[in-house]
Amino acid sequence: MSGEDRKNGFKSGFVALIGRPNAGKSTLLNRLLGEKIAIISNRPQTTRNRILGIKNHPQGQVILLDTPGIHRSRAKFNQIMVHMALATYKEVDVVCWLIEAERPQNEENDFILQTLRSVSQPVLLVINKIDLVPKRDLLPIMESYAQRRIFEKIIPISALRGDGVEILMSELIQLLPEGPRLFPEDMVTDLPERFLAAELIREKVFRLTREEIPYATAVVVEEFKEPEGKNIVVIQATIQVEKESQKAILIGEKGHMLKEIGRSARKEIEALLGSKVFLELWVKVEKNWRENHQAIRRLGYR
Ligand code: GDP
Ligand code: MG
Repeated sequence: MSGEDRKNGFKSGFVALIGRPNAGKSTLLNRLLGEKIAIISNRPQTTRNRILGIKNHPQGQVILLDTPGIHRSRAKFNQIMVHMALATYKEVDVVCWLIEAERPQNEENDFILQTLRSVSQPVLLVINKIDLVPKRDLLPIMESYAQRRIFEKIIPISALRGDGVEILMSELIQLLPEGPRLFPEDMVTDLPERFLAAELIREKVFRLTREEIPYATAVVVEEFKEPEGKNIVVIQATIQVEKESQKAILIGEKGHMLKEIGRSARKEIEALLGSKVFLELWVKVEKNWRENHQAIRRLGYR
């Protein structure tokens, strides 16, 4: 920490990005950071882990948590995620709640609203996806949420296009407490590269398969090494599914599906690491891993 930071009113602190699955949290996180660290999918609930992103701004250091979607559900797996999301509120300086302009009111949002009533930290309401609605629809949404008197500010944005994102960033910085940098300036995330690689592989499974397959999938990186003097990263990863039938689909006819997953994931991992990558993928059946607490823990989801 430098005395310089204090003198200039430098800000630093933690921001939780919350919102129903598909609200655009990962898109916003990547947009705020200017780098791709969270995976994005048009299907709900691709983000299972909390992702920490760090934005180093001239006026402050904003540390962002991308939380799993908060929503009601019976499955044990989802309960764990709700629990994680609620626990996150307590650890942060600002809560930033994303809703979607084209579906501002729904049961999930009502539920989140309830959980927010007990939060003592400032809460920002972000209305995302404004590119999808006519401008005149925005004011009524903003007014109806303003009546709740929970929100410090209400900010319309398009995470996809970047509209309003600068304004959001400066509002976030304003709400953070004064303080020195908490992480080194060149750090973008605290997640290890092998985790990011696993996330990118999982994203490709989401992109390329359908129905229950993506939700039945977990990716474990078994091996992540850079043989000396070779200038290449060797990655071996296992894609876990719940049933033999899912395994067959993931591998595909003559292995085409798995090859395509591997090819597209490798390209992005190479971009992320800035080096050549040799990626080897395996598919393994691990029965009912989602219902099995032990397995969830082992995979690092808790
Ligand atoms: P998350 O589940 O909250 O992390 O949501 P994602 O960031 O994965 O986004 C879900 C979907 O919404 C993806 O298809 C995004 O491309 C899309 N999306 C996110 N932000 C916007 C936006 O501002 N405008 C539009 N049109 N789509 C968006
Ligand atoms: Mg996400």
